[in-house]
Amino acid sequence: MVNRNRKGQTVLKGLGTKFGATVRKRYSKVYRTLKQKRRCPSCGSLKFMRIACGIWNCPKCNFKVAAGAYDINIEKLQS
Ligand SMILES: [Zn+2]
Repeated sequence: MVNRNRKGQTVLKGLGTKFGATVRKRYSKVYRTLKQKRRCPSCGSLKFMRIACGIWNCPKCNFKVAAGAYDINIEKLQS
């Protein structure tokens, strides 16, 4: 999904030119935050991911937690 153009910036596919550059930049930033690898706060597995808006789940240990829509602050959960 991530393409690298000549200027070295990463641009995501999915939003066409009609949405404008600002929206596309915002979208790619949020999307990259959403898709980055995360460690499960319970078992440390990297499979920890969002299953719905605000709901984060680990398929390995079935740890489920409510957090942000696009990001999760694991430091806050552990304390
Ligand atoms: Zn887990």
